[in-house]
Amino acid sequence: KASVLAGDNYEDEMHAKPSQDSAGKSAFHMLQEDRKALPIYTYRDQLLNAVKDHQVLIIVGETGSGKTTQIPQYLHEAGYTKLGKVGCTQPRRVAAMSVAARVAQEMGGKLGHEVGYSIRFEDCTSEKTILKYMTDGMLLRELLGEPDLGSYSVIIVDEAHERTLRTDILFGLVKDIARARPDLKLLISSATMDAEKFSDFFDQAPIFRFPGRRYPVDICFTTAPEADYMDAAITTVLTIHVKEPLGDVLVFLPGQEEIEAVEENLKHKIRGLGTKIRELIICPIYANLPSELQAKIFEPTPEGARKVVLATNIAETSLTIDGIKYVVDPGFSKMKSYNPRTGMESLLVTPISKASATQRTGRAGRTSPGKCYRLYTAFNYYNDLEDNTVPEIQRTNLASVVLSLKSLGIHNLLNFDFMDPPPSEALIKSLELLFALGALNQLGELTKAGRRMAEFPLDPMLSKMIVVSDKYKCSDEIISIAAMLSIGPSIFYRPKDKQVHADNAMKNFHVGNVGDHIAFLKIYNSWKETNYSTQWCYENYIQVRSMKRARDIRDQLEGLLERVEIDVSSNANELDSIRKSIVAGFFPHTAKLQKNGSYRTVKHPQTVHIHPASGLSQVLPRWVVYHQLVLTSKEYMRQVTELKPEWLIEIAPHYYQLKDVEDATSKKMPKTSGRAVV
Ligand code: ADP
Ligand code: MG
Repeated sequence: KASVLAGDNYEDEMHAKPSQDSAGKSAFHMLQEDRKALPIYTYRDQLLNAVKDHQVLIIVGETGSGKTTQIPQYLHEAGYTKLGKVGCTQPRRVAAMSVAARVAQEMGGKLGHEVGYSIRFEDCTSEKTILKYMTDGMLLRELLGEPDLGSYSVIIVDEAHERTLRTDILFGLVKDIARARPDLKLLISSATMDAEKFSDFFDQAPIFRFPGRRYPVDICFTTAPEADYMDAAITTVLTIHVKEPLGDVLVFLPGQEEIEAVEENLKHKIRGLGTKIRELIICPIYANLPSELQAKIFEPTPEGARKVVLATNIAETSLTIDGIKYVVDPGFSKMKSYNPRTGMESLLVTPISKASATQRTGRAGRTSPGKCYRLYTAFNYYNDLEDNTVPEIQRTNLASVVLSLKSLGIHNLLNFDFMDPPPSEALIKSLELLFALGALNQLGELTKAGRRMAEFPLDPMLSKMIVVSDKYKCSDEIISIAAMLSIGPSIFYRPKDKQVHADNAMKNFHVGNVGDHIAFLKIYNSWKETNYSTQWCYENYIQVRSMKRARDIRDQLEGLLERVEIDVSSNANELDSIRKSIVAGFFPHTAKLQKNGSYRTVKHPQTVHIHPASGLSQVLPRWVVYHQLVLTSKEYMRQVTELKPEWLIEIAPHYYQLKDVEDATSKKMPKTSGRAVV
């Protein structure tokens, strides 16, 4: 049984508050006082002693108590950074950036110097960096180059309760490294969940628990289920704004699209209310939000105004925003779901777990008593919500991490030390996929192509598309497409009152029904021809920030091409070569048109549709390859390109047989199934 190192008694509710009469004090000085007011400060010395005495420590403390921002600084102050870097992993990019920015400020330095962060496609560190915040995925990539993490003296696996796929993989890897490197300190830090489980996994490592500060939160359920949770969320925010005392509001929404829709609708409604009501400042926060705008959520709310933060799950535990008094919880989040039988992965809006609901509620009571509006019924809560969120490793496609593990020389994946093993079906499916993509040979060993693919921080299908573009002499075009795909739908700007204009602008890029991938390429190249003009983006209803990010990613992909010794070659007039490269990466994602206008996936038949935002949604080609499935009202294929069925035999003969691609229509459909025969 794990020992508990710090008392669980909630002594002293009110610690030293930052002094109110701090006029004249420098901002830096005030930040130091803020630091001392955090719950973790009281336990600073105890914590450092525990770290000294134990190699592996599980740290548990409530969200917002100062774990992420303070522990690395304490370690620095105690001299650990003289022995090596302190690395702190975060499941989310935004959290890594934002927390690093905060800590740099608290240490009075510039971001990227002593304190830096590293996220996919963005490295904001230097030789001087001693405190490094990074996504869990980036530490996994670093392991490929430095298998013993020799440049680190301490690794903190933070937000461990989130149990993301990459955090779970890191658990197994760092446990092993810690055994081989007695000088490495390993801290596993988590909000108040699952601590015993972490301790058990890490050979009964001691648990350091410290109390947070929590004020009571009133929970209101709805009396009847809501027909539309977004409408309900908007109404609730407006009601709070008009009727409740001042205090900021935090609304949890599933994703960027929902946030943008609610933001627009709220702005519209507020305008309709006239000038009598006080100011409502709306701040969205989601992973793809440009970093300049991310900082806005932390700006203090002006006197007399109210701030409403529209956030994804990122605000559940990764980011703490001070001053939140009201939480609106519609009860959903966007989750990946994976069917290991078919190998199909889809993003869908799913009800959250009770543990999630509790965390969300807690966000309202950090600085004063608060209120949480749950937009679902109490019956719903008690009977329908799962207790805990299923760890991502059990509901996702594993191909990408399996490829990383293989590159790390870990061959027998069934014996890997998983905290919760993935379904073996899912492991086998990912091995099959990597074999089909040519990354593994029949013995399950990494091939040359696989080694090259592993260099790209991308999904193996995208990496394959890039690696194979060498053969089709179009790597120049393909990396532009890959960069644009990595940005996704946030490239387009489609304001409600200008939808027709925006759609017309889009049509130019779809001339000839080239498909969404080639349209992406045309957009990128047109922008490049204008010398990356901002004006051009405005005129074409394209987000200039997204394009700049695409350019950035593209530059890095170009660098990686060089690293795997692939020349940048251009074949812009041969659209079929480009399409074949896409198919060579994405051949498992193919679908064939049905008579009723829907599609059926070729390998594991399932009904799917072309997303209405696709340039091919009215064209309905007979055969298509798609980038991604998204489940909303229907199962939609997002980013679609036409293909010729014979390519499947040419490119993936080991995957498709002639009978799969024969154009004979579905004569053989059983009439007895009760379904309409198309
Ligand atoms: P924990 O990791 O225990 O959840 P954190 O260290 O993230 O806690 O947060 C501690 C405090 O630091 C919170 O009060 C939070 O408001 C503040 N903080 C964190 N990041 C920022 C930021 N980017 N800007 C302003 N304040 C921040
Ligand atoms: Mg934290």
